Amino acid sequence: METGHKLQMRFWGVRGSTPAPGKDTLVYGGNTPCVEIRTASNQVLIFDGGSGIRALGQHLATEFAGRELSLNLFLTHFHWDHIQGIPYFQPLFSPSTRLNVHSWTSDQQTRRVLEAQMNIPNFPLNLADAGARTSFAQLKSERVKIGDVSVESFPLNHPQGAYGYRIEADGKSIVYATDLEHGDGHLDQILRDHAAGADVLIYDAQYNDEEYASHRGWGHSTWREATSVARDADVGKLFLFHFDPAHTDARVAESERLAAAEFDEACAAREGLVVLL
Ligand SMILES: [Zn+2]
Ligand SMILES: [Zn+2]
Repeated sequence: METGHKLQMRFWGVRGSTPAPGKDTLVYGGNTPCVEIRTASNQVLIFDGGSGIRALGQHLATEFAGRELSLNLFLTHFHWDHIQGIPYFQPLFSPSTRLNVHSWTSDQQTRRVLEAQMNIPNFPLNLADAGARTSFAQLKSERVKIGDVSVESFPLNHPQGAYGYRIEADGKSIVYATDLEHGDGHLDQILRDHAAGADVLIYDAQYNDEEYASHRGWGHSTWREATSVARDADVGKLFLFHFDPAHTDARVAESERLAAAEFDEACAAREGLVVLL
């Protein structure tokens, strides 16, 4: 954590649906969703456990070597691109890790889902024997307070459901809203209400307008809709997120350019990018 900041955010995975490594995705990155947020008191919050969480795990294992590591992992939903990195998260295998997993389903259901992807014959070790002290917490409508940060969740329009998060500390705020499709008036308004005045909005921009027309009901949105939400909610900065695995760096850069023409403070999220608030 850099000193003098209320919140620090780092993107570890920004790709949607499936990892897309290769020469055409080097700039923005090919790992599936994972966002790390730190507070001034060095609370570590993680949003989603896509393949990007693997490199975060290596980073944390080095930084906290020989020390207790307390982590809070917030899951948006259980589609595979949001949980697939968890079996490869190095702190999961350390007894000095305390991992608290938050989601909107029951504690038992969250545990079952995460255990299932590590069951034989999918993975050689099971979750219970991994080593970390893991606990599960079901999100309710009220905010979760963790030290100097609060986290509020809200429902998104997505197949099987998904949740967005508003993270606040000392007057600074980040809204993480991925895996959502616009067009449900009620949920569109809930999103705008929760994003209102945020310093940072991270938004699902998987498609452009033409692609969206042939992917209605798939649960994702567009760069254009991202700028509309950003304007309505009067956010400070917009990050396009959850890029289609078929989109090359050139395609993401084009979306970024078009979005910035609609909303000045729009840009594309990229792996490794750090934002200080
Ligand atoms: Zn996804
Ligand atoms: Zn999804």
